Amino acid sequence: MSLIVQKFGGTSVANAERVMNVARIVTDTYKKGNDVVVVVSAQGDFTDVLVAKQQEINPNASKREQDMLLAAGEQISISLLAMAIEKLGFHAVSLLGWQAGFETSSAHTAARIRRVVPDRIRAALDKRNIVIVAGFQGLSRYGDITTLGRGGSDTSAVAIAAAMHADLCQIYTDVEGVFTADPRKVRNATKLDEISYDEMLELATLGAQVLNNRSVEMAKKYNIELEVLSSLTQAKGTIVKERTKKMEKMLISGVAKDTDVARISITGVPNIPGIAFKIFSKVSAKGINVDIILQSIGHDGKKDISFTVAKSKGQEAVEALRDYVDSIGASGILYDDNVAKISIVGAGMESHAGVATKMFEALYDAQINIRMISTSEIKVSVLIDAAYADKAVSAIHEKFFG
Ligand code: ASP
Ligand code: MG
Repeated sequence: MSLIVQKFGGTSVANAERVMNVARIVTDTYKKGNDVVVVVSAQGDFTDVLVAKQQEINPNASKREQDMLLAAGEQISISLLAMAIEKLGFHAVSLLGWQAGFETSSAHTAARIRRVVPDRIRAALDKRNIVIVAGFQGLSRYGDITTLGRGGSDTSAVAIAAAMHADLCQIYTDVEGVFTADPRKVRNATKLDEISYDEMLELATLGAQVLNNRSVEMAKKYNIELEVLSSLTQAKGTIVKERTKKMEKMLISGVAKDTDVARISITGVPNIPGIAFKIFSKVSAKGINVDIILQSIGHDGKKDISFTVAKSKGQEAVEALRDYVDSIGASGILYDDNVAKISIVGAGMESHAGVATKMFEALYDAQINIRMISTSEIKVSVLIDAAYADKAVSAIHEKFFG
């Protein structure tokens, strides 16, 4: 007998028919003799509906009250799923985050899980119940309801799997797994059998949008194997784990696109020590993350410094820099958010030469200009004009997988 954690996202429980479908998946797993803990998100886009209700009444509502509201979505889905399971003739118990032992920080709307004390889950399993837990929520040490940030229920599932030493953690969603590129956009995109945590982390931040980032970080930390699969088909999913069999053989695992990018360039900066330090201090003081950075060699005692940030933070970053840029007599600040970041990710890069070259060749063949480049051990990213983003992904995908 194994302990299996199964997480179902919003689309998997969007309506009565889908909830019954999930009840069947869960009870099939239970019938095989397993202990099953189920984590669910709010139905469909219900969390967005709740956000809209808040906006209507008070856009500046306190974060405590936002959490009180947002946590309600999951209360609906856990109870409905428990009822569906009862209908199939099995015993089920639904638990809110606090009942399931989720202790979190008190950072409302972005709380961190401090620990999970799964006593109540275990007691319910011991009585042969299927246990259904509300994802995305917990309790602060002040006894207030918290939420983990949008998309947080993946992390709830992994946290339970870690705390209870589960044998498997399955993340059910509306896609069949992790693909070599977005299957809706790229013909020939294929499903990966396996992917490493590190690759998945890169893809998650790059906008592959299959798994929430923090859930992968937590899975890596506690070495929890994840399976990403669809609740709507019977197909085998993608396993996410530390080391995969094909890691060395495959040049890359996937091509991803991120359009939530803005480029900021400061031109005509004096070529003296300390300038980069000061520029990036201004930006980080606002809590803004910088991604790709490029500095020109410079001439006549002047140079240019360019970097990228998330689009939503672009204007704020520019404002944070304006006074400083004037004070050092730089020529100006340029801002462009019509850009996209295209990346290839693969653990195989570490042991193969020429992977980046192959990517650049694909872009050259497609006549797409590269504006910035950055690399890490398992990733190469380029910044290009947003208009060519999909074309670039297809061209690169074809080069590596075609
Ligand atoms: N329902 C929450 C949200 O939409 C949590 C989740 O889906 O993971 O963000
Ligand atoms: Mg959701």
